Amino acid sequence: MRSDLTLMNNDQAPTISLVVFIDALGWEVLKGRRFMEARLPFRRKLRSVFGFSSACIPSILTGLMPREHRHWSFFYYSPKTSPFKPLRLLGWLPRSLVDRGRVRNAISKLIKRLYRYTGYFQLYNIPFKYVDKFDYCEKKDLFVPGGMNGGENIFDHLQRAGIPYHVSDWRQSEAINLESLKADLSQGKIAFALLYMASMDALLHEVGKGSPQVDQKLAWYETQLEEVMRVAEAHYAQVRLFVCSDHGMATIHTQLDLMSKIEGLGLTFGRDYTATYDSTMGRFWFHNQAARERIGALLEQVPQGRILRQPELQQLGCDFVGDQFGELIFLVDAGVLILPSHMGLKPITGMHGYHPDDPDSNASLLSNVEPPNDPQSITDMFHLMRAESGA
Ligand SMILES: [Zn+2]
Repeated sequence: MRSDLTLMNNDQAPTISLVVFIDALGWEVLKGRRFMEARLPFRRKLRSVFGFSSACIPSILTGLMPREHRHWSFFYYSPKTSPFKPLRLLGWLPRSLVDRGRVRNAISKLIKRLYRYTGYFQLYNIPFKYVDKFDYCEKKDLFVPGGMNGGENIFDHLQRAGIPYHVSDWRQSEAINLESLKADLSQGKIAFALLYMASMDALLHEVGKGSPQVDQKLAWYETQLEEVMRVAEAHYAQVRLFVCSDHGMATIHTQLDLMSKIEGLGLTFGRDYTATYDSTMGRFWFHNQAARERIGALLEQVPQGRILRQPELQQLGCDFVGDQFGELIFLVDAGVLILPSHMGLKPITGMHGYHPDDPDSNASLLSNVEPPNDPQSITDMFHLMRAESGA
């Protein structure tokens, strides 16, 4: 052995556990692909949690179901606590002006700054004339101690245990986050790292899981992670690598204009009912019995989805105190996209946020060692991270 290598080995810290989170790297996305097969021979699917990343990521970070950490879809009906009352004035301006993507992004950024929100904040397409009826559930940064609405996240545990760790800044690009991780690894002082890679999700929404662009992106991740491993292995005697995700991506085959159907009933938004339309769900609050019955009856007749009843919501861990996120939840079948919705106005190729039983909802866990505690669900990632870090 060359002397410089011997010297390096003497300087090495014992072990590092690296958890690499790749948003939307679903089990079905990986099917038929050989992504990092040699490096990561331990491969398993993980059951996802019902909801979008705004629900799944908190479950990964806490090991809790949405009912417990109280993060689900971003907007919920709460006129008394709505911080958005001043925005209602924008509802008087022509929609062609205020509803441009760039204008909405600028307003979202301004609110985030004014209200000192540290979480991910985006107004999406929630109409300004109704925005004062809603509150928002991710005001705080999830990736720091104290970031959860309910329960504790892995960072609370790491901090309390005094374990030196690295976590990506989700506001930065993947390239910057990779550099920042490698810089910390080179110091050899951290014992645990969570690398956050967000751009796979956007690509899969745009091009769908079957696209060759997905293969290119996976090849890029592979190159980047090999480089991370090279740096880690130079400074640590053992590198335990786990690549995981929060959900997969279904391919859209049908668009459903749920909003027009509901508006066709002639009920008044805000007086009879309040609704918010996510890409895969309609969520309703009723202000009188007639509205409850008529909307319920209409939804029963929509063949592209179904109403989720209380026992099922309970089983999914999405039964919330006071029906916080909707008194009635209508979920569409996998591959159906609600359009327009309050999340988007344009058709896209891929979507997630369907029932966790759908195979395209499954997330994945790939590793170079047998993962501890036999993880089955994305919530088990929290227990894996505790076991790996000793927190
Ligand atoms: Zn997404």
